[in-house]
Amino acid sequence: MTNMPTLPPEIASPEIRRRRTFAIISHPDAGKTTLTEKFLLFGGAIQMAGQVRAKGEARRTRSDFMKIEADRGISVSASAMSFDYRQYRFNLVDTPGHSDFSEDTYRTLTAVDAAIMVIDGAKGVESQTQKLFEVCRLRDLPILTFCNKMDRESRDTFEIIDEIQENLAIDVTPASWPIGVGRDFIGAYDLLHDRLEIMDRADRNKVAESIKISGLDDPNLADHVPADLLQKFREEIEMARELLPAFNRQAFLEGHLTPIWFGSAINSFGVKELMDGMGEYGPQPQPQKAAERQISADEKAVAGFVFKVQANMDAKHRDRVAFVRLASGHFERGMKLIHVRSKKPMAITNPVMFLAADRELAEEAWAGDIIGIPNHGQLRIGDALTEGEMLHFTGIPSFAPELLSGVRALDPMKAKHLEKALMQFAEEGAAKVFKPMIGSGFIVGVVGQLQFEVLASRIEQEYSLPVRFEPSNFTSARWVAGAKDEMDKMINVNKGHIALDNDGDTVFLTRLKWDIDRIERDYPKLKLTATKEMM
Ligand code: GDP
Repeated sequence: MTNMPTLPPEIASPEIRRRRTFAIISHPDAGKTTLTEKFLLFGGAIQMAGQVRAKGEARRTRSDFMKIEADRGISVSASAMSFDYRQYRFNLVDTPGHSDFSEDTYRTLTAVDAAIMVIDGAKGVESQTQKLFEVCRLRDLPILTFCNKMDRESRDTFEIIDEIQENLAIDVTPASWPIGVGRDFIGAYDLLHDRLEIMDRADRNKVAESIKISGLDDPNLADHVPADLLQKFREEIEMARELLPAFNRQAFLEGHLTPIWFGSAINSFGVKELMDGMGEYGPQPQPQKAAERQISADEKAVAGFVFKVQANMDAKHRDRVAFVRLASGHFERGMKLIHVRSKKPMAITNPVMFLAADRELAEEAWAGDIIGIPNHGQLRIGDALTEGEMLHFTGIPSFAPELLSGVRALDPMKAKHLEKALMQFAEEGAAKVFKPMIGSGFIVGVVGQLQFEVLASRIEQEYSLPVRFEPSNFTSARWVAGAKDEMDKMINVNKGHIALDNDGDTVFLTRLKWDIDRIERDYPKLKLTATKEMM
């Protein structure tokens, strides 16, 4: 009795068991928005495709609340959408697509249990896909792959699969197999259910016609597939069965094997099969790690952590919304939870869930769900909310920024306002803000250049405060921790390099990599790190 698969134990609560919390990762333009929209359509959350975002059109939605986002066609802020599909509850957490927001994306991925990787059938694995995939791998997230745009000229199926296996070092198993390419693409064979799915090019929102087939020798196939395509397709499937691994749920759940579906999001083709795959094989809400212990989803007590804070979502309210991933329990509106960092109780009276086009009051939520909690700044990234246990969730990192810049208000009388604005963005995780020991002013650190533009635009719009970013003397930042005596000594002779971050932690700023090595050599009891955990 070797090799018996040991699947994770079923969660007892049917409400929790039916939840699937996931994100979609892709390179810009691969079709993430289109796919998201079809998910919402088939999940009954929107009535008609075209509501989520129409590029180049004036139409806007909640998730496009920032002008810069609409202008550039990028999704700057992550939000979570919930909808039912068959017996499942899907929580789709939106990740920002632009590479400049990788830190935000990373944190978003700490809140999900699985990811869907969308690739363009003509382009294969692109740079951003690769980066995001690496982040998923750090957490061993199970990944479902959707190869999109099969209605256009695309690469050879084996070539696409090979590229994923080579570049991402993950096994790939075909869940479906495309029949024909480009203009001759007629549909796909569902290898997991022995079904033929025929694409309807006339109606983009119509779900494919599904024909039950009993194996590849079924004469029925010839009624639906032209003879020349059928021959090639039969050969390919035979080869695929010989060369590629079969689906194995455990290997998938452990992140070693990704099933791939071939489809066309815009034609609604292959989308339901992908959703079925997420429902049938995708992970239930997974245990979450805290410094004290692991929290399992079906524990009775409610516990959750903040993975994102979004300010000024609604111009009318000037509120902040903290996005909380529930790690365990059954949450009900009005519950009093302990905010672990301040040890104070918080009555959660107006939690929101994001249902596609609108936010709604969440009367209840279960482990795996994402709820938004409006607040006035008490809730920060990494914070825990529990029914009393002092838990500290781990694994939500803060990265050292790669770009540093000075910032100043164009109106010098507004310096205090600027400080307030900067602190808010720091809490939101949109930027690092450092106050140097020497001199006045602030240094802002980000991961990508575009973030400076977004910040400048938001400070101007939300605080009516025009600002200018200026070159700074520094290019690197490292958090410093260690023995107090050495710390004091080091600070004393390096004052010009020292700053405090918005949590009051000590940071070493420099423009020379060599400086960092020097400090580590001269002060062996100190540690300089490029990430710090937010808790
Ligand atoms: P995102 O940047 O990943 O969110 O990509 P979008 O969903 O905005 O899609 C990028 C472009 O590809 C848009 O013009 C879509 O209409 C188009 N597109 C999306 N899915 C398909 C598809 O299945 N076939 C074709 N031909 N185009 C598609």
